[in-house]
Amino acid sequence: MEELTEELSTAQMAERAGVTQRTVQRWIKSGELQAKPIRGGYYAINPLDLVELSLPLRADATPKEKRLSYDELFDKFIEVQFDLDDLQHRLGQAEDKIERLNRRVTELTRERKATTTRRKKRDTRKLLPYDYTPWRAFARLHGIPESTVARAIKEQTLYVERGNWKSGGRTVTEAFDYYEREMFYDHFHTHPKFESCEDCPHKLK
Ligand SMILES: [Zn+2]
Repeated sequence: MEELTEELSTAQMAERAGVTQRTVQRWIKSGELQAKPIRGGYYAINPLDLVELSLPLRADATPKEKRLSYDELFDKFIEVQFDLDDLQHRLGQAEDKIERLNRRVTELTRERKATTTRRKKRDTRKLLPYDYTPWRAFARLHGIPESTVARAIKEQTLYVERGNWKSGGRTVTEAFDYYEREMFYDHFHTHPKFESCEDCPHKLK
C-alpha cells in the first residue's frame, strides 16, 4: 500500500486528533508522530498515524503494541470492506431469489385458478346414473326415428328424466330409466321399423 501523506499544521493536527497543540508538538518531538517539516510550520505526516495516536491505548503499551493496534485497525477496515462486498453480493442473490419466488407464486396462483375453474365446470356434471340411457341412442338402436319418439315424449306417452350428466365424454340431458325402456318396448315393438336389441323386451325383473 502506498504511504499516505498529508500536509498539516500542528494546530490542524491537534484539532483532528482531539488533543492540544502542545501534545502534538510533544508527539513530533518524541518521534511518536513521524512528521517531516516543510514550509511555514507545516508538516508532512501520515494521517493514519494521527488517528492511531489519538486512539485510547493502554498507558503501558510498547511502541510495538501500538504498531500492532494500527495493523489490527487496518485489518479491521479491510474486513469491513470485504464484508460489505460479500453483503452486496448476497443481497443481489437474495433479490434474484425473491424475484424467482415471486414469479413461481404468480404461476402457481394462475395454475390454481385454472384448475379451480376446470373443477367447477366438471362438478356441475355428474355421471349418468347406471340405469339411465340416452333416449335418442335407445331409439336409434331400435330403428325408431328420433322424431317419432320425440312426439311420444311430447304427448307424454313416454317420460324422460332430465338432468345434466356426462357419459363417455358427452353431455346427456334427457334419458330413459328401466321402466321407460319397458314402456318404449310396449309402445313401439309393433312399429314397422322396430328392431329388437339383445335386451328386449326390457322387462323389469
Ligand atoms: Zn331393446
